[in-house]
Amino acid sequence: MRQINHYVNGRLTDASDRQAPVFNPALGVQSGNVSLASQREVEDVIQIARQAFPSWAETSPLNRARILFRFKMILEERMDELARAISSEHGKVFEDAKGEIIRGMEVVEFACGIPHLLKGEITEQVGRGVDAWSVNQPLGVVAGISPFNFPAMVPMWMWPVAIACGNTFILKPSEKDPSAPLLVAQWLKEAGLPDGVFNVVNGDKEAVDVLLTHQDIQAVSFVGSTPIAEYIYSTASAHGKRVQALGGAKNHLVVMPDADLDMAVNALTGAAYGSAGERCMAISVAVAVGDVADELVAKLADKARSLKIGNGEQTGLDMGPLVTKEHLAKVTGYVGQGVEEGAILVVDGRGIKVPGCETGYFIGGCLFDHVTPEMTIYQEEIFGPVLAVVRVPDYVSAVKLINAHEYGNGTAIFTRSGGAARQFVHDIQVGMVGVNVPIPVPMAFHSFGGWKRSLFGSNHVHGMEGVKFYTKRKAVTARWPEGDMGVEFVMPTMD
Ligand code: NAD
Repeated sequence: MRQINHYVNGRLTDASDRQAPVFNPALGVQSGNVSLASQREVEDVIQIARQAFPSWAETSPLNRARILFRFKMILEERMDELARAISSEHGKVFEDAKGEIIRGMEVVEFACGIPHLLKGEITEQVGRGVDAWSVNQPLGVVAGISPFNFPAMVPMWMWPVAIACGNTFILKPSEKDPSAPLLVAQWLKEAGLPDGVFNVVNGDKEAVDVLLTHQDIQAVSFVGSTPIAEYIYSTASAHGKRVQALGGAKNHLVVMPDADLDMAVNALTGAAYGSAGERCMAISVAVAVGDVADELVAKLADKARSLKIGNGEQTGLDMGPLVTKEHLAKVTGYVGQGVEEGAILVVDGRGIKVPGCETGYFIGGCLFDHVTPEMTIYQEEIFGPVLAVVRVPDYVSAVKLINAHEYGNGTAIFTRSGGAARQFVHDIQVGMVGVNVPIPVPMAFHSFGGWKRSLFGSNHVHGMEGVKFYTKRKAVTARWPEGDMGVEFVMPTMD
């Protein structure tokens, strides 16, 4: 049984008193134990990150970037090792785990440009002999709290930008798949990162609450479910911290009557069932406009029935298991509730058995037709391989449906009409929009974030929004007068 602890001040630590089990979801067996940090242990880590801050903040942006360059080289060389660690604890298929790492690495590549990104502004001669400029300085110790579904990528939305800006970082990963961030921490040290700049504390609410309330934490980045995001936002904000808290989602893909139907079906299949639907940008609702529904559902059903499902550590599969037994029970429960509420279950993936993995947490692709907005399976985030088809008569009804939903993370439209696509981009109340692109996750040099109850706080992650979040601005006004200027009692104005 593996023992998984913390990474503090440049080394792996001993075990904590409290532990939680870690599972291999494909096999349905416990594979390890993870330490759950106590309040005292988290306070000690904060102290270490605080001590590491002044010297790291004084390190030139170029030298900070060079460490990230070296880390990127290590990450490229050892990507398979990290992907295997993700797959064995999360369950996603190996190639998908590699995809997640590459999307995370893009943020490292973005952060390598930090000398350019940190530049301030200057105006010469704002008054006679007076110059004004602004600089961006790091905040101090910042924390990140991440979900189980992207154990490498989501932390990389945060820490590369945070440390490139000169902050020191404490990551509290998900206790369900804690191994990937510990590998990353060790590789950062190999790349030359000074001890104490990047720390990993594993834990649960006890650890999180210290990060939200401690006076030496300046900012908190969170990604996870909406109820917890709301709690993180309100608690950390009340303790005077900057907060960006990204929450849950219910992403709709609109299929217009003029869409290339096969393209839309392929896009929906990958976006609904990839990673077993455990993606915040997964498509969980297909909005069939006009008379497209019958053919769309028939084609989707064929695809859902032919998914290749198995142990994600093997290659050539479409989908692995869900992350835990409890999550499998929750998703299975939603499917039952959908049937009770009157939706038509066209493909039922419940109860599938994968040879060699009989005790794994598997559910096959599920497809519902005739789902309506009153149903629980429409309103709530299921976070499993369950696709709901909602039939609407026209474009206006599709937009109205999506805009009325409490979540606004991602959405997409499939159409051949430039006019319809443009109108959709303009009308839709959602943070990330795809046009003939099912999962419109922005590149690292743009920023990622939803609207409505999918994001609490004003800054998205990464891109220039990330740089802004992890720095504070200082505005300077300077003059070098010759001789005594005398006393001024009136509000100073420039001429
Ligand atoms: P979660 O909210 O259960 O957990 C996220 C983090 O919060 C974990 O580190 C966990 O240990 C911690 N946590 C859990 N309960 C807590 C509590 N009561 N107090 C303090 N901390 C607590 O989320 P999850 O199940 O790990 O991840 C899936 C969710 O994350 C989905 O809702 C998904 O949509 C969302 N997600 C959103 C995005 C996005 O960009 N918006 C990205 C990925 C995942």
